[in-house]
Amino acid sequence: MPRPILATIHTAALRNNLARARAAAPDARVWAVVKANAYGHGIERAFEGLRGADGFALLDLDEARRMRALDWRGPILLLEGCFELRDLELCSRLGLWHTVHCEEQIDMLATHKTQLPHRVFLKMNSGMNRLGFTPERYRAAWTRLNALPQVEEISLMTHFSDADGPRGIAAQLQAFEAVTHDLPGERTLSNSAAALRHGATVAGMSDWVRPGIAVYGSSPDLPEHSAADWGLQPAMTLASKIIAVQQLVAGDTVGYGSSFSADGPLRIGVVACGYADGYPRHCSTGTPILVNGVRTRLVARVSMDMLTVDLTPVPDAGIGSEVTLWGRSSTGTLLSIDEIAQAAGTVGYELMCALAPRVPVVVAD
Ligand SMILES: *Cc1c(COP(=O)(O)O)cnc(C)c1O
Repeated sequence: MPRPILATIHTAALRNNLARARAAAPDARVWAVVKANAYGHGIERAFEGLRGADGFALLDLDEARRMRALDWRGPILLLEGCFELRDLELCSRLGLWHTVHCEEQIDMLATHKTQLPHRVFLKMNSGMNRLGFTPERYRAAWTRLNALPQVEEISLMTHFSDADGPRGIAAQLQAFEAVTHDLPGERTLSNSAAALRHGATVAGMSDWVRPGIAVYGSSPDLPEHSAADWGLQPAMTLASKIIAVQQLVAGDTVGYGSSFSADGPLRIGVVACGYADGYPRHCSTGTPILVNGVRTRLVARVSMDMLTVDLTPVPDAGIGSEVTLWGRSSTGTLLSIDEIAQAAGTVGYELMCALAPRVPVVVAD
């Protein structure tokens, strides 16, 4: 018998979440962002649920190859563009669209020999200060690109740093508009948070939106809105089983460091899931967890292969009972990955991306 841990990718949830993103930006086309192996879900496993997207955005060239191997003939956008000349050859061969964010990438394009000119997305650094040309240098970059025989079409792009928070997008949007308003070409501006929160502001200014996290069923703007508030469903369930039960008396401690101590009789279950499976070690006593679909709490320290739960609310639970670490229990109870992330002081993004390779994964509806 293999260890009873299992992750499930929910095709219907991906489909639902993609539809939610689309509804938030009804006049835009949608890139489903599938970087980082579809945020840990697996590109091949997520594809069925996301194939209704208008295109796929990612940054690893090998992942672009895998999208083409799935027979996806539609648009693919490389969000960081090309890193070396060889990458441009792959773009020509696989018909990839790529971001251009620095002069060096334009130099590279100028030396690239191709029969098929490329579609490129010229990125503006409108304030985030990661990738892109500053507003002052943007138009010169556009003019340089426009003169290259290797370039067929230039689209315009920027990325918001605060779409999820009180700073919002106004300053960056204004910087972008001021420089690009009279340039031809399609625009792509919004990540999940911008698409969901600022859809109306950006309407008519963004031909493509780029939702990632929302598509996987995690909220882009915690703590203001939960995933459920946005109508998003968990696309990943991490489940395991109870493999041992301990009956404690007052004063008994549990796990490494004896960090938890029972203040009275307490039945606990030992679950086959630990930090080596991707469950965060930073979660402490009180983190929510489902046993047989009933909400209870983690107790004591998470160890490499096991963690422990309070069985008080589920007296009938025992060895073999289902445990849902995040996602959906077989009884239909939901536990958002965001609740676990918050308990660990991080975001849902990190948890889904960190699902460990040793966890078997299946695809279901
Ligand atoms: C990752 C990424 C996105 C998607 O962001 P989410 O917050 O997951 O929606 C969009 N655009 C760019 C450039 C990205 O790198």
